[in-house]
Amino acid sequence: MTISDSYRAKLSVLHKALGIPESFLDSCNLPLCAEPEELIATELDFYNRPQRLIPEAFAAWSEMKSAAQQDGVTIFLISAFRDIQHQHDLIAKKLNQGSSLESILSVNAAPGFSEHHTGRAVDIGTLGCDALVEAFEQTNAFQWLQVNGNKHGFFMSYPRGNKFEIDYEPWHWCFCRDDK
Ligand SMILES: [Zn+2]
Repeated sequence: MTISDSYRAKLSVLHKALGIPESFLDSCNLPLCAEPEELIATELDFYNRPQRLIPEAFAAWSEMKSAAQQDGVTIFLISAFRDIQHQHDLIAKKLNQGSSLESILSVNAAPGFSEHHTGRAVDIGTLGCDALVEAFEQTNAFQWLQVNGNKHGFFMSYPRGNKFEIDYEPWHWCFCRDDK
């Protein structure tokens, strides 16, 4: 994936605004994620918000959701594509609420480093479980995803003890990351 100079320049501005050091762009453990050229609307998410994915990821997600349903397992979207400005705003909000940058960056990737920028990543929810909590790993949906997610091209990006030093995220799955 080519990362253009103009994209890096935009990231520098957003990072500076958040107090992220300039060296971070080249020293972050996470791969830099580009925004896609094409995105399409998915179904509304659990909160009735519009969401977008790249067409291939949306097709795979729809198939996976139907396959789960056929096995009696309900999965739904909590979040999909987010642009770099949105990522900045999420972090800025937490900074304003008093969290330290370091603690925020262990759970929210800095702008440019979130897989949600690619339009391939989904945060998945299920019935009877709060959104985006580790307890998701105890649900039928998670058991089902562990067996079947890869068949549909989805991989859990941040397992326990991942090399990116991002907290364990059993709910976060990405479509066909082939660079790891
Ligand atoms: Zn996620």
